[in-house]
Amino acid sequence: MYEIIDGKQLSASVRGEIAAEANRFKQKCGRQIGLAVILVGEDNASQIYVRNKIKACEEVGIKSFAYYLPQSVAQNELEDLVKELADNGEVDGILVQLPLPAHIDAGKILGLIPVEKDVDGFSEQNMGKLAMGEECLAACTPNGVMTMLKSKNIPIKGKKAVVVGRSNIVGRPMALLLLNADATVTVCHSKTADLKKECLSADILVAAVGKAKFITADMVKVDATVIDVGMNRDENGKLCGDVDFENVKDKCSYITPVPGGVGPMTITMLMYNTCIAAFRREKI
Ligand code: NAP
Repeated sequence: MYEIIDGKQLSASVRGEIAAEANRFKQKCGRQIGLAVILVGEDNASQIYVRNKIKACEEVGIKSFAYYLPQSVAQNELEDLVKELADNGEVDGILVQLPLPAHIDAGKILGLIPVEKDVDGFSEQNMGKLAMGEECLAACTPNGVMTMLKSKNIPIKGKKAVVVGRSNIVGRPMALLLLNADATVTVCHSKTADLKKECLSADILVAAVGKAKFITADMVKVDATVIDVGMNRDENGKLCGDVDFENVKDKCSYITPVPGGVGPMTITMLMYNTCIAAFRREKI
């Protein structure tokens, strides 16, 4: 019998803990934890993400500083803003909503965020620290997956983990986090020779592909834990994951649903990273 890892429920409980910590921070430092969010342009999805992030800040007692810049913003203007926020003592975390317009050098902008304020964990320094197994701010979605695994005490050490997808925001940091937790990790991608064989070896299978119902029951080992990071639309326009949930679930010991699985954890882990960044900066 499979068990669902309920991301909505876990997210609510983690946010409760973050709210308590944010309050403790305020009592100690006489100010709120601060998160600066920069949105360039009017992309619909990005606007929704930013709105949800600001709402989450309000919910846990983190002060948000929102900056809305036009699509036409110049590279040097954006750089100046990030530099100013880097020096701002009230700002513990800086988030630049991606994607940035094509005329902006996104790598250069992310590189200006001090490593200790890079709460998205996307900078080369934080990714490098993660790769070296050092303390860092890890990318929010994979960090959320780790929190989900830990919440159910799912063994990771010595287990075989297979991550399908190698993007810099999900697959790659996911594989590194699992490796740092002592799993034996295989990373699969579009050039993997025998994907089914790799997936069938997984005690923990993480799908981060971006293709609806891509992971089918014949690719999953009996009693595996299956984590579905995908967010896709099916043929009826309904939100669905990368895993064919209905047919896969009965083979699993644990499985995450879509919606209500990994998705709700991502913004929660952004709040978590901001909290960690603030406590580290103030050496509490
Ligand atoms: P991405 O940048 O498009 O990366 C997709 C990865 O899947 C690539 O590494 C690609 O391989 C691999 N892939 C594609 N087709 C494959 C195939 N046939 N066999 C094996 N591997 C294949 O996507 P992403 O940004 O990582 O996102 C992945 C999914 O997660 C999307 O559905 C996205 O919406 C979702 N997501 C969810 C959250 C959340 O909060 N829940 C956050 C971020 C993303 P190559 O590298 O070889 O091209």
